[in-house]
Amino acid sequence: MITDHLAFGTSGNLSVREGDLLWITPSGVPFDEVTVQDLVGIHVDTGQQIAGSTRPSSELPLHRAVYQARADVQAIVHTHSEYAAVFAACKEPVLPVHYQLAPWEYEIVCADYATYGTYELAQNAVAALGADHHVILLQNHGLLAVAGTLADAYHIARDGEWLAKLYYRARQLGHPQVLSREEIAAVREQFLHYGQTPSV
Ligand code: 13P
Ligand code: ZN
Repeated sequence: MITDHLAFGTSGNLSVREGDLLWITPSGVPFDEVTVQDLVGIHVDTGQQIAGSTRPSSELPLHRAVYQARADVQAIVHTHSEYAAVFAACKEPVLPVHYQLAPWEYEIVCADYATYGTYELAQNAVAALGADHHVILLQNHGLLAVAGTLADAYHIARDGEWLAKLYYRARQLGHPQVLSREEIAAVREQFLHYGQTPSV
């Protein structure tokens, strides 16, 4: 998170789901100081703390609400990464001026504002995620990425920030060319055959 410029200080948090539990980062501990022992195990439905002696992230209501709303989500990455936060500050979507995010998303839409750590923020995020979004902005706050694995959620958060940076700079230079939904769908198809064929 720190080396990829997705986090500084204690901003942001991560969680993974394991059965009925979620494991979440502790509140207010800088990422470079967090150890495995600091992670907090919480029962997703009851909110009861099952494991760990630290206080869970203040965004526990957000993580719980997303897991309850989306059976496909097994991991969540939340950041205050700079360029995503710029678009979130303006409540503007990040448009697809590059195909990098195509496997996951067309554009990055923004959830309505609510105070961090509140049930209201959790509800606004769940509403913006809908049934199949993988990354959204949180107004005047940051970015939220969700996926079936922690590796995917992390890559989506990283690529979402990269796209926000690219779009911001393209707007400074001139008139960004936004890819159509058809073009993004074609890239999504192309990505099915990307990389090395797994050996058998
Ligand atoms: P925590 O340190 O409590 O996870 O809070 C950081 C944050 O990003 C709140 O939105
Ligand atoms: Zn935050």
